[in-house]
Amino acid sequence: MKLVFGPVNSRRFGLSLGVDLSPFTKQCNFDCVYCELSPKKPMIAQNQVVEVDEILKQINDTLKSGVEFDFLTLTANGEPSLYPHLKELILSLKKSLKNKKILILSNGTAVLDENKFNTLLLFDVVKFSLDSAIQKTFYRIDRALKEINLELLIKKMADFQRTFKGELVMEILVVKGLNDNEKEFLALNKALAKIKPLRVDISSIDRPPAYAVKRVSEERLNELATLINSVPVLIAKRTYNKQSLEFSKEELLKSLHLRPQSELDINALFSDKSKQNLELLIKEEKIKILDLAGIKFYKA
Ligand code: SF4
Repeated sequence: MKLVFGPVNSRRFGLSLGVDLSPFTKQCNFDCVYCELSPKKPMIAQNQVVEVDEILKQINDTLKSGVEFDFLTLTANGEPSLYPHLKELILSLKKSLKNKKILILSNGTAVLDENKFNTLLLFDVVKFSLDSAIQKTFYRIDRALKEINLELLIKKMADFQRTFKGELVMEILVVKGLNDNEKEFLALNKALAKIKPLRVDISSIDRPPAYAVKRVSEERLNELATLINSVPVLIAKRTYNKQSLEFSKEELLKSLHLRPQSELDINALFSDKSKQNLELLIKEEKIKILDLAGIKFYKA
């Protein structure tokens, strides 16, 4: 059973070597409508568990082949924090991978369990999902186990960030007709203001989903992103044609003061003249460059 895959060059987290902590079948406490895996009743714990030694052996074999990567990413067919030996695994990985960052792509529910909460504190980078801050929509999109309380989840995510020494990134996946409206994004903005992650990544469906739901356009993602002003936003999978937006130095200062923007978005959207103006402002030390979990952001 192959547990290690890649490395893949991910726009959001650089060159990443992936590890699958649920190789046999989907094991998740959510059953998201947009999941790229087939629908399955959510579960509280894994019942098919791969041995830690087998995971470590496969990672070591891959390392011996001299493969280059920036992040080791723990993921799963399902929710990786349901893996029962996660603490043992991360402690071993931290010893053997001293120069690499270790990332977990989680739906965030680990924060509801004290042991898992403490285990996630050992990671360098943690990604949590939050598709809605409104209970009814949260259950409609994520189809979570009913004992998962959204209000508590948001509170615990905020507690986690207060204690965490690494980098926390949040992710919102937008589904047409469910969370693609102003009310949802105003509620998400409030929740993110409480959680205070380094950045939030916004995307829509890009692979065939588990249920009959639809993606939203990138133009709509951009509109919704303007409703988030509590944390820097990255439109995670931008694919549409390049634009040539013109901004004077004053306009750049104003807009980057209100909302920092990623290098990726600036490259896709700004005209050459706007980019030159940005360079001038950086030289004049009026704009700062921030590294937010591996993505460059510009902030006035
Ligand atoms: S949390 Fe991830 S794996 Fe689980 S149902 Fe949602 S998309 Fe699928």
